[in-house]
Amino acid sequence: MGLLVTGGSGLVGHALQKFCPDAIYVSSKDYDLTKEKQVKSMFEKHKPTKVIHLAAKVGGIKDNIDHPADFVYQNVLMNSYIVHYAYKYNVKKLIGVLSNCAYPDIAKSYPLVEKQFYDGPPAVTNFSYAISKRVLDVQIKSYKKQYNCNFFSIIPCSIYGPYDKFEEDKSHFLSALIKKIYNAKKNNKKILKLFGTGKPLRQYIYSEDLGKILLLLLNKYDDGETINVAPEENLSISQIAKTALEATDSTDLKITFDTSFPDGQYRKDLGSDKLFNIIDNFEFTPLSEGIKKTYEWFKQKEEVQ
Ligand code: NAP
Repeated sequence: MGLLVTGGSGLVGHALQKFCPDAIYVSSKDYDLTKEKQVKSMFEKHKPTKVIHLAAKVGGIKDNIDHPADFVYQNVLMNSYIVHYAYKYNVKKLIGVLSNCAYPDIAKSYPLVEKQFYDGPPAVTNFSYAISKRVLDVQIKSYKKQYNCNFFSIIPCSIYGPYDKFEEDKSHFLSALIKKIYNAKKNNKKILKLFGTGKPLRQYIYSEDLGKILLLLLNKYDDGETINVAPEENLSISQIAKTALEATDSTDLKITFDTSFPDGQYRKDLGSDKLFNIIDNFEFTPLSEGIKKTYEWFKQKEEVQ
């Protein structure tokens, strides 16, 4: 099949493995993609015809604020080598994965659509990561323009699922929430303390849904234009927390918000009409079901340790 997936050991990489076990999955243990020689030898060895480029330095707000240099340095190098060697080794199709936080921090209208991607600066909290994603998009479009490569980018909303990061300084909101619920239940706590006001809006996609969509696009999309990938539902942090309590049978926990912590971007929801025109009738996993599955996965992992 000739498909190579970078970032194969991560959240989305694991989801893809479930639906496409025959592809080649690589992680940093196989190749350090910030090293040109290693990227070249990866293409030389596997000679892929298709590439899904997931590998990236990814992290939560704190990690992004504390290590902006690492985010821009590692991501720009990885992306640049992958796209360049995909071209050099005649890869027939490549998908680059961007992020909703690379959109402008403040936009004139919502949901955000693809033509707004460069309309203003991204949020300061993850500026380096966001700009590295914009550079990836520019590189993909440039190789398409100059060399006619069949490469394109997708922009997913926030992702969650089994194999997410649950460590405190690296996790995103939903994985942190799942861990907090688990710990509160384990320690018979009655209060669940969350950061901020609970008002910001967030869109979440279950990692396996994104895995399926990546494979559908890989097989049927050749237009080259960037595509948003998100379900329509856009809930407040407080609604998501309530859904999580219900999904994990934890409604006896009382949620409180510590407003001394910042909220982050108020909203960054994506409009996915373009995607729905390519793959119609896609059924997204309901948030409560995805949270339940992720919670069960996390619980099992904690309890075998
Ligand atoms: P993840 O779980 O953090 O996994 C990152 C992957 O990249 C791992 O397989 C990791 O390998 C690999 N990697 C990191 N540095 C590397 C290096 N120097 N050389 C080789 N491999 C390296 O990421 P994810 O959450 O699955 O995200 C997949 C993609 O979606 C990323 O491009 C991310 O920017 C994008 N995205 C994520 C979210 C989200 O909410 N998670 C939202 C929007 C977009 P090791 O395991 O060996 O370290």
